[in-house]
Amino acid sequence: MGSNGSNTVYELDRLCNIKDVKVGKLYKGVITRTEKYGVFVSLNEQTRGLLRQREMAGRRIEDFKVGDEVVVQVIDVRPEKREIDFRYVPLREYRVEKVRKAVPPTTIKEILDRGLVDMRGEVVRIVGEVIQIVQTPGPTVFTVTDGTETAWVAAMDVAGLRAHPEVQVGDIIDVTGIVSIRDGHLQIERLELRKLEGEEAEKARKIINEKLDKKSEPYRDIPFLVDSPVLEDLRPKMARMAKMIRRAILDGRPVVIRHHADADGYCAGIALERAILPILSEFSPDVEAQWHYFRRSPSKAPFYELEDVTKDLVYAMEDKLRFGQKMPLVVLADNGSTEEDIPAISQALAFGADVVVIDHHYPGEVVSGKVEVDSYVSCHVNPYLVGGDSNLTAGALATEVARMINKDVSDEIKHLPGISAVGDHAKGKEAEEYVKIALKDLTKWSRNYGSGKEYTVKDLEKIALCMDFEAFYLKFMGGRGIVDDILAVNKREIYRHEKIIDILYRRAKEMIDRQMQAVLPAMKTEKLENGVVLNLIDVERYAHRFTFPPPGKTCGFAHDHVVKKYGEDTPVITVGYGPDFMIVRATDAVGEKYGFNLNRIVGELARKIPEASIDGGGHECAGSVKFVEGLRDRVLSSFIEVLRRM
Ligand code: MN
Repeated sequence: MGSNGSNTVYELDRLCNIKDVKVGKLYKGVITRTEKYGVFVSLNEQTRGLLRQREMAGRRIEDFKVGDEVVVQVIDVRPEKREIDFRYVPLREYRVEKVRKAVPPTTIKEILDRGLVDMRGEVVRIVGEVIQIVQTPGPTVFTVTDGTETAWVAAMDVAGLRAHPEVQVGDIIDVTGIVSIRDGHLQIERLELRKLEGEEAEKARKIINEKLDKKSEPYRDIPFLVDSPVLEDLRPKMARMAKMIRRAILDGRPVVIRHHADADGYCAGIALERAILPILSEFSPDVEAQWHYFRRSPSKAPFYELEDVTKDLVYAMEDKLRFGQKMPLVVLADNGSTEEDIPAISQALAFGADVVVIDHHYPGEVVSGKVEVDSYVSCHVNPYLVGGDSNLTAGALATEVARMINKDVSDEIKHLPGISAVGDHAKGKEAEEYVKIALKDLTKWSRNYGSGKEYTVKDLEKIALCMDFEAFYLKFMGGRGIVDDILAVNKREIYRHEKIIDILYRRAKEMIDRQMQAVLPAMKTEKLENGVVLNLIDVERYAHRFTFPPPGKTCGFAHDHVVKKYGEDTPVITVGYGPDFMIVRATDAVGEKYGFNLNRIVGELARKIPEASIDGGGHECAGSVKFVEGLRDRVLSSFIEVLRRM
């Protein structure tokens, strides 16, 4: 006790606990319970002790009421039992001194490393960025990252009100609270929460940012599956994309994959999906993270359509409003490189999403390493940017990026580039290498877990065809799980893949045969003076509609049929047309000998007949063109005129 009659009485702040209480000292407390043998005195919410009858300095239990403020002296502390014994001290004059507990800041990783069970009940302090805010029927839950790991901070407030309305997603907060465990993850029950402002916030943000940046570093030097100068030239861009995707996951930003709805597009989408999902589960405290922070959908059109972006934005906005989520990182695969993609991409950007593109379609003229879409997207991987071409498929590019995101996924996905190469009729050294890898890999797994057969190129063609077949019925759905089996990504269950392929292939083949039966007799073949074999099909009148195979594929199969008859080296062009569109397929010989480039011809025609609103393209030797219905005959005859004069 102090001297000169001015006794010091200590008052605990809300962070202090039994360990901060000293024997002999005086404390200010409140009666919180009365019993037959004494009364309980609380020094703060979490620190309570017993004042027995014999220590009441002559007063009786009945003299104390719940809610009374009292001064007590500590006569014994037993922290292991969470027990304190008090003596009542009837003081009139005293000086109050606050006991403020300074909890040194720690990192979320340190808390986890010390073991959640051991840490339970401890008071900790962290500084982190809020990446999501959810108002539950109970507390408001802030998901916070400090750059080392992610944790929840739960804050109770008056029922029904959001705690700390001043705190928004993206803010930096300094939280002191009690360690608890929810769903097996760290949840800090808030005792004190302060939003950092100004310079203090910026300093903390910088530290968090540096840590996240380091953690999102991809496997940028991983050897590619094949030797390829084009891939090596693309490596910096690919590593950048891998890093952006990893960073999005760490930032709690949803990843949305949009890919073309064909075999190559699905290969690309699945490769990325298989790399991303395990990382999401590892980094996010949300057990349902792979459903809440990831979505993959196909795009029917060969570009990112306004319909697609609208759907993506509606979902993203709803998630933002309902679950406090950030706007997503949109990854366009086997799509996204062309001028046609720009309206949808601009919309996504306007709403706060970011867009990256991994594609192998002709992106327009490359000027000092850049194309038009580069002014809109945050990262663009396309072989044309480094002097390559579409023979490096989107499936191959995405598989290599997926391995940079998550190197452990290689064995699951390394056969996908081979399937995509066959599906997209890719040629060249890389494509051949990828096909070899796929054959070797699938044969190995089939021997261990499947029918034990030796895989051939024909099998890869079957898989690609079945993927196209299924894509027709999946329409706008991603088909997670189903697609994994068709593309043989679940290698231990390759027996199921083989069964499914048998069933799908038989059915697809029947439907193609039926279509060819209708189409081939109606096809008009003409040998032009310059030696080009031109086939024309009216797919509107002489093909089954709204069924598999759709017009593009129908034209492709008819084209293949003719090519088989004349041989690969013959210049063959097949044009399938409907009321307001045409589909074009050409053999490589047409490109090589005649300089045929569909994209360039489309540009020329569009300038020549502006009123036809001609639009489209694709690869040099395969693509589709749209125009105004009334001008079809003029567009068609102009197109054929170009072919005659090649
Ligand atoms: Mn493709």
